[in-house]
Amino acid sequence: MNKIVQTINILKKRYTAKGMVDLGNPEDTLIATLLSARTRDEQVLKVYPGLRKKFSTLTNLAQANVKEIARCISSIGLYRNKAKAIKALATRIIKEYNGKIPDRMEDLITLPGVGRKTASCVLWYGFGKPAMAVDVHVFRITHRLGWAKGKTPEIVEQELMKLIPKKFWGDLNRTGVQFGRDICRPGIPQCYRCPVAKWCKFKYKNMKA
Ligand code: SF4
Repeated sequence: MNKIVQTINILKKRYTAKGMVDLGNPEDTLIATLLSARTRDEQVLKVYPGLRKKFSTLTNLAQANVKEIARCISSIGLYRNKAKAIKALATRIIKEYNGKIPDRMEDLITLPGVGRKTASCVLWYGFGKPAMAVDVHVFRITHRLGWAKGKTPEIVEQELMKLIPKKFWGDLNRTGVQFGRDICRPGIPQCYRCPVAKWCKFKYKNMKA
């Protein structure tokens, strides 16, 4: 077994919680991931139930006043833009996809407010299709481990897809987010308790505060 697969398997055993935006279906995963841009997932999960209580269907969201949507999510970053995007996204999905969330990357990334990371989360968490969601944690960790060199999430996504077997793509996002919050944190990582330190190529590994 190669070191990359071993690393992912070790992280999978250690981090068993489901993904924060894995809300059990494509629609909720799509809207929650859109809301999570530059916002902590915890903040999103605080406002999300209230938003869906008020606007329980895509039709409700499409017909809503943007200000009403914005009021429901006003505690999170960029809430006005996100409210606009949610209304526009619901409208497009109803008109062009018969109210069903599309399950192809090429369709998802054309929706308002949806980039490749959000689309990948929807594909993996919502549809169970292999996709490589490169968020800030996956970006940082895979650079430190020496798996990626790219300067943008899009390039890193391509690098990782070439390097990692498809069946592990989704696991890397789910476990990477948890590992990145717990041990391989931004700033000074806690390498002294890292379960995969022996394979890590980070120049500043074991750096002390
Ligand atoms: S050794 Fe340190 S930098 Fe490397 S993966 Fe582990 S926590 Fe991150």
